Amino acid sequence: MLDEVHELARSTAREFAERAVARVATRMDRDNAFPGEELAEAGKLRLISPMLPEELGGAGLDLRTAVVVLEELGRVSGGFSLLVEAVGTLFTHTLYKYGNSAHRDAVVPRVALGDAVGAFALSEPCCGSDAANIACSASREGGAWVIDGVKTWITGGLHADYFLVATRTGPREARHRAITVFLVKRGKCVRTSPIEVMGMRGSGTAEVRLEGCEVGEDDVVGSVDGGFDVITYALNVGRTAISGVALGVARGAYEEALEWARGREIYGRRLIDLQNTQFELADMLASIETGRALAYYSAYLYDSRRRDFVLYTHVAKLYTARMAVDVTRRAMQLEGGYGYSKESRVERLYRDAKLLEIGEGTNEVQKHVIYRIIERGIDGLHMEL
Ligand SMILES: Cc1cc2nc3c(=O)[nH]c(=O)nc-3n(C[C@H](O)[C@H](O)[C@H](O)COP(=O)(O)OP(=O)(O)OC[C@H]3O[C@@H](n4cnc5c(N)ncnc54)[C@H](O)[C@@H]3O)c2cc1C
Repeated sequence: MLDEVHELARSTAREFAERAVARVATRMDRDNAFPGEELAEAGKLRLISPMLPEELGGAGLDLRTAVVVLEELGRVSGGFSLLVEAVGTLFTHTLYKYGNSAHRDAVVPRVALGDAVGAFALSEPCCGSDAANIACSASREGGAWVIDGVKTWITGGLHADYFLVATRTGPREARHRAITVFLVKRGKCVRTSPIEVMGMRGSGTAEVRLEGCEVGEDDVVGSVDGGFDVITYALNVGRTAISGVALGVARGAYEEALEWARGREIYGRRLIDLQNTQFELADMLASIETGRALAYYSAYLYDSRRRDFVLYTHVAKLYTARMAVDVTRRAMQLEGGYGYSKESRVERLYRDAKLLEIGEGTNEVQKHVIYRIIERGIDGLHMEL
């Protein structure tokens, strides 16, 4: 499913991750510091949104490339990889798909090239999984729309210049049929504050308050009351992309544990000479490779515009998130006290991994969608490709 173009993107991402992301990874985690310079460099290397056409700041490639890039970034820092995924896939790719020509010309390339930051603002204090119940409102006042509400847990939100904001444009009972997405530029009406999180630190997780934000008809992304299609599309693509983050987090932990086991002496021999260690490493690798096969296949289905992508994107997200949590836990166990210390990368990746079972739909939400496919078949799900 991967050819030499994907492998070339992998080597660019790996070189960048080992040189630039490794330098900032500990500081991101320790100080919750945002890697603004490194994000800008990722943009210049066309790693933020490789699916976009070259003239818009992408690399003219596909979702498989995005997965491979996120895998390489995640191997060094889950937080950096998650940030690139949210900026490049949830925000930029969605705006490219549903925005108008002004959005495409003025905003998409700036964010894709790392000259500005974009964030995808759906979740609210009231509603994460139950996204159809959001309360943040947009009301028509004269020729404008006025947005009021609170978004929470927004990746990159602390430093974002632009937000894709999901709003309610009709009665709450209308649920997903009265949601509209707007492009909102940071201004006086937007206030952001940092949220302290367990893992994925430094990715700019924020609460975003919108108070009387005036936007125009031209700022609608997609159509009025048609915002749920935009959200569904973004999350369907995002769930395969974030599987790449999970692959990277798991691989980073596995590789460190392997090296540790080769170097650690125990009972007068090497830790790796114990059969349990070998079996643990074999199990970890088998799970990582299963996750890889799933994530690459899901991306391939998207790239081929096949409808069964919708099933595989949820299967890949569910499997790789659980796999990353399991592999990082096993890696820590193999490393003993060292694994639990701040010296090891595994300690950080273990905390990063847990978010993967929550963000972009919890495990239960993935299962909910998979079960709907069991009941209704793929054609029973609305999905634009
Ligand atoms: C670090 C971080 C970054 C994030 N980044 C973003 C972002 O960039 N943009 C954004 O919009 N959001 C973002 N989120 C929010 C994330 O998508 C939500 O946290 C997630 O969707 C879960 O929603 P919730 O937290 O409201 O939990 P709830 O929806 O309240 O879920 C509570 C529990 O109920 C379970 N549950 C839900 N539905 C069902 C069901 N049908 N059956 C059984 N159980 C169910 C859940 O699995 C969970 O265990 C981020 C979150 C974090 C922590």
